[in-house]
Order: sequence, then structure tokens, then C-alpha cells
Amino acid sequence: CGVFGIYAPEEEVAKLTYFGLYALQHRGQESAGIATLDGDTLHVHKDMGLVSQVFKEDILNQLTGNIAVGHNRYSTTGSSHKANAQPVVLPSRLGQFALAHNGNLVNTLQLRQTLEERGCNFQTSTDSEMIAVAIAQEVNEGKDWLEGAISAFQLCSGAYSLVIGTPIGLMGVRDPNGIRPLVIGILNNNPVRYVLASETCGLDIIGAEYLRDVEPGELVWITEEGLASFHWAPKPQRKLCVFEMIYFARPDSLMHDETLYSYRLRLGQQLAKESFVDADLVMGVPDSGIPASIGFSQVSGITYGEGLIKNRYVGRTFIQPTQHMRESGIKMKLNPLKDVLNGKRVIIVDDSIVRGTTSRKIVKALRDAGATEVHMRISSPPVTHPCFYGIDTDNQNQLIAATKTVADIAEQIGVDSLAYLSWKGMLEATGEDINSFCSACFTGDYPVAIPENVKRSKLI
Ligand code: 5GP
Ligand code: SF4
Ligand code: MG
Repeated sequence: CGVFGIYAPEEEVAKLTYFGLYALQHRGQESAGIATLDGDTLHVHKDMGLVSQVFKEDILNQLTGNIAVGHNRYSTTGSSHKANAQPVVLPSRLGQFALAHNGNLVNTLQLRQTLEERGCNFQTSTDSEMIAVAIAQEVNEGKDWLEGAISAFQLCSGAYSLVIGTPIGLMGVRDPNGIRPLVIGILNNNPVRYVLASETCGLDIIGAEYLRDVEPGELVWITEEGLASFHWAPKPQRKLCVFEMIYFARPDSLMHDETLYSYRLRLGQQLAKESFVDADLVMGVPDSGIPASIGFSQVSGITYGEGLIKNRYVGRTFIQPTQHMRESGIKMKLNPLKDVLNGKRVIIVDDSIVRGTTSRKIVKALRDAGATEVHMRISSPPVTHPCFYGIDTDNQNQLIAATKTVADIAEQIGVDSLAYLSWKGMLEATGEDINSFCSACFTGDYPVAIPENVKRSKLI
């Protein structure tokens, strides 16, 4: 999911949030929502669909206030309907508040039971609502916003980057492992106008300047007095999702003071060092494989070119293609350049293989267009384990690399050769401590323990 928050008296906070969410659209296309706080009054609008479908100018004009919270939903476990759209809005002793969540809790069953024993009720079955209910309960028992939130987080286990709007201030929070990203920006260089966003591309679009990341286990509290920081978790240990870096986040977003484009370029360079093969053309799968394919070309010395053109306007559509169209494959989204590919030995680079279905269709399309050899190179290791922290990498039995060797996968997707980047190569290219990342979908080494019943639901 994508989350966004802003504290900016005298600005059109709803409109700025709209643009922030627009830049973060890649993080979730299922539903969008904005809540604004105007003192004790809370306004909210949320619905299924893209940001541009859910909001029109007249709706934004009704969302008045000094504080706004926005959310783009990408559904992982919870079902896909309007009731699950965020921000979650709840009443409390200290007034209404709005919460936007990116990530996935792993202890929802236990948390729900704890909260029900305390007399709490729920409208939905989402983990995000549970966090909000836990905060409301602590506040209703007499705590203030900060104490209430911090007590509630002690009950939560898993991944959570949160933006919370209250009548008096805006809160930004990361779980003790900082699995999902969250950054702080400053608007108009004014130290009482702050912005929170999942990625820096959400700051760029409104002209906010990147200040720093919210740290793992940190809570930032933005009020009329400025920004205050609280390190609330006893043992924070950074485990940033490496999948954010290789695929999920936008290439123009900054992590570790460089764009992810630059990181992905290095992944491709490393991939060429590890698994060179001779060919006539290096190309990437648009858009996610492009930076790594350029890096591969730089190191291998093989010409880079485009071989597939992507229709950028194919989103989630409610109109299903006809049977004939479906049989004709992926061409709705990706169309091969026949004159470029004909007679060529091609290296095609992608960021990852999850189920293998897209890859197989792409390989077939390249061969149909006349490619004489197709070599696939992947800028991350085989995905062998599901994610429990908020990225939809499916049940383990859907993951092609969970049960098949690289040779079997190569045969199934129909390539002449297939190679993946090494785990070490992927992490060393970050230039950071390799222990500061979650890479569980490549190793099964989950940094936040998964309860047995949850494990059983997704593991073979
Ligand atoms: P596959 O061959 O596994 O069907 O598809 C691989 C493609 O899916 C890659 O181009 C990759 O960018 C994309 N991909 C990787 N992870 C995810 C994910 O979590 N969700 C979705 N929708 N696509 C993904
Ligand atoms: Fe990211 Fe994979 Fe860890 Fe999930 S399991 S948080 S996708 S690295
Ligand atoms: Mg892709």
C-alpha cells in the first residue's frame, strides 16, 4: 500500500494529499482514500479504484483542514471491497482520528482475541482496523495520543508503517524492524509544515524536500510546535524489505541517498558478472526489468535495445478480455518489436519471477517475433517463500521456484538459458550492512516470527 500524511495549516491539504497518492499509485490500485482533520471535525472520502477515479475537484474542496491522511490500497490477505478501504476512521475520548497502514501484521488472531477480551468491536476483518481499535481503546482508558499509540504498538507484531491524523497532530510510525518504508519531507522549507510518504516520489510531486526516513521503531509527532521524535521500541533492528528495492518502489524514489534506479542498474551489472552469455541484444521487461537490463548491457558490452513496448494505460479493468484475446496472450500489455527481434539472440532481463506465467508468455512472444535464442536473466534470486509482511507473493505452492530447480524453470518458461542473481550479489549491491534487510521470500528466514497457524496457511 501507499501512505501519505501532511501537517500544513493554511495549505490545501486534501489536494496535496491527492497528488501524493497519485505519485504512490504503483503501491496499490484497489482503493484510495483521504481523511482531513479540521480541529475536532473529520472529513473522509474513500472508494474502490484509482486515485484519479475516486477523487474529483469538488470532493477535494469539501475535505478541509490542517492535517490530511491518505492511502492507496493493495490487497494482500483481506478481501477486496469498499469496507476495507482506508484510512480507517474511529471515534475516541479525544476525538475522531484517521489511520493509514502499509504492511501486514502477523499476529492478528491473537491481537483480535486480546482486543475482544477488552470489549472491543470491529467493523472489518483487517489488521489495520485492529491497530486503530487498539489505539482508541488505550486513549479511551485515559492515555493521551502518544502514550495510547505506543501502548497499542506493543501489541502489534509484523510490518507496519503508519500515518495517523488526530485533532491535534500528525503521527508517523515504523515498526521496530522498519520493514516498510516511510519518509519525512518538509514543505516550503517551513518547519511547521511536514509531509510523510511511503516513498520520496510522494514528496517530489508536491515540491516537498526530503528530510530523512522515519527510523525503525520511531514515532514522529508533528504538531503546532514542530516535529518531535520518540524511539518507542525496546530493540529496534532494521530489516527493510529488499523487494521494495528490487521491484516494488518506484525507480525514482530515494533509498540510502540514491535512487532505486541506480541500485537496480548495479543489480544488472552484478548479474552480467555472474552469468554472462553471448547474444546480439540485451533488453528488459518493461518497466520493472529496464534498469537492470541497462546495467547488464554496460558490463557485458552487448548492445542494449527495446524489444517490447508496454501500453502504459492498461490498469486493473473490470471489463475482461474475450476468450480469443486471452488466448492470444499478453499482447494487451506488451507488444514485441518484430523487426528488432527477428533473427536475434536475445538476453531478456527481469527483476523477478514469481509464478512464472508472465515470463512464459513473454518468451513465447519473443520467439514468435523471430528471436533465435532467448536467454533470461533475473536481477534477484529465486522466490521460494511467501511474504507475510504485506507484499503479495502468493501461497508457496504458487511460487514456481518453491518446488522446481532452475533447470526445470528454464524448461517450463521455454528459454535457452536462465540465471538468477545470487543472494549475496543482491544484498552487497545495496552498499549497506547485508543484515539490515528482510530477504525472507528468497531464504525463508523470516525476521519477525510467524505464528504456526499463519505459517500453515501459506507454506506448502
Ligand atoms: P511471473 O513470471 O512470475 O508471472 O511474473 C514476473 C513479473 O511479475 C515480473 O516482471 C515482476 O516485475 C512482477 N512482479 C514481481 N513481484 C510481483 C508482485 O508481488 N506482484 C505483482 N503483481 N507482480 C510482481
Ligand atoms: Fe519483502 Fe520478501 Fe521480506 Fe516480504 S518476505 S518483506 S517481500 S523481502
Ligand atoms: Mg515486471
